[in-house]
Amino acid sequence: MMNAPGYAAHDPTTPLSRFDFERREPGPRDVHIEILYCGVCHSDLHTVRNEWSNTVYPVVPGHEIIGRVAACGHEVQGFKAGDLAGVGCLVDSCRTCPDCTEGLEQYCLKELTFTYNSPDKHTGKMTYGGYSTQIVVDERYVLQVPDRLDPAAAAPLLCAGITTYSPMRHWGVARGQKVGVVGLGGLGHMAIKFAHAFGTHAVLFTTSPGKAEDARRLGADEVVVSRNPEDMKKHVNSFDFILDTVSAPHNLDAYIELLKRDGTLCLVGVPDTPHPSPGVANLIFRRRQMSGSLIGGLPETQEMLDFCAEHGIVSDIEMIPIQKINEAYERMLKSDVKYRFVIDLASLRQEAGEALRP
Ligand SMILES: [Zn+2]
Ligand SMILES: [Zn+2]
Repeated sequence: MMNAPGYAAHDPTTPLSRFDFERREPGPRDVHIEILYCGVCHSDLHTVRNEWSNTVYPVVPGHEIIGRVAACGHEVQGFKAGDLAGVGCLVDSCRTCPDCTEGLEQYCLKELTFTYNSPDKHTGKMTYGGYSTQIVVDERYVLQVPDRLDPAAAAPLLCAGITTYSPMRHWGVARGQKVGVVGLGGLGHMAIKFAHAFGTHAVLFTTSPGKAEDARRLGADEVVVSRNPEDMKKHVNSFDFILDTVSAPHNLDAYIELLKRDGTLCLVGVPDTPHPSPGVANLIFRRRQMSGSLIGGLPETQEMLDFCAEHGIVSDIEMIPIQKINEAYERMLKSDVKYRFVIDLASLRQEAGEALRP
C-alpha cells in the first residue's frame, strides 16, 4: 500500500479537511498516476453534503483528474512513466455485459465503480477520488491526454466535457444544424464550445442577459433570454437539438416547442425535485423526443480528448489551492465561477511535504 494525502468530508456539514489514506500497490494492469490537477464538479458538492442520500463518509471527491504516470504494472500496454493521463467518473465496471463490450461502460448495471463513493473491490472500502496526490487505476479506465492540451484546463473535459460531447455525438449534431444549449455553467460553457466546433448555429438560452457577451466569446451565434416569452416564440419549431444543462426544476415545454419535427431535447442535469411534467401533445404532434444522457464511455471519452486537442478546446478555469475548496463550494453555489474550479494538487503536495517523482 502507498500513502496518499487527500482532502475529505467526514459528514454533511463540516468543511472538507485533510485526510490521509492508502492506495493499493499497482497490480499487473494498473497505472499509478501522480495527480496534478482535479476539476471541481457539482456532483462533488452533492456527494459531500449527502444530497443524493448515498454518501459513505469519509468521502474524497474528485472525478476530473489529470496527472503524470509514475509507474505501470508489467501487463500495461498503453501507458508508460511520464505520460500525461486522465481519469474521469469511472474506475471500473463488469467488462462483460453488452454495455461494457460496446464501450458504454457508464451504463453498466452490474459492477459500475465510480471514481469516488463506490464500493472498491480492491480494498473492500469505498473508492476515493482526485482530491489527492495519487491514484491507482486499471489501464482500461485511464485516458491518454494529448500533450497539446493544457493539463489544468483539460481536467474538466473528463466530466463536464464528455457529458456534453456524448449526447451531441449520439444524436448526430452536425454542421448546418441549429443547436440550443440551456444554461451557461460548467456544462453549458463546454456545450457551446462543442456546438460551435461541430459547425452548428449555436444558441445559448440563459436567464441572465449579462452572460450574452461571454457566451458569444465562447462560440454562441445567438443568445436568447429564456425569461422573455417574446424572444422564445421567435424560435418555435426551429431547433434540431437542444441540450439542457440546468438542474433546477423548470418548464421543459418552453424548450420542447422550439424543436423541429423529430428534434430532440436532451437533459443532462439531475434536479433535486422533479421538473413540472411536460405536455405530451407537444411531443406527439411533431414526433419530438425528450431524452437524457450520462457522461460517456471510455472510447468516446478518448475520442473527445483527441477532438479537443485537434480543435484547441479546453475548459475556462479558475485554479485554486486545495486549502480553498470550501470557499470554492460556496462560490459555486452562487454560480460565481467562470466556468470551472480546478484544484492545483501542488498545494496538497506542499502541505504534505511530498515531492513529485523526478
Ligand atoms: Zn462530474
Ligand atoms: Zn458491464
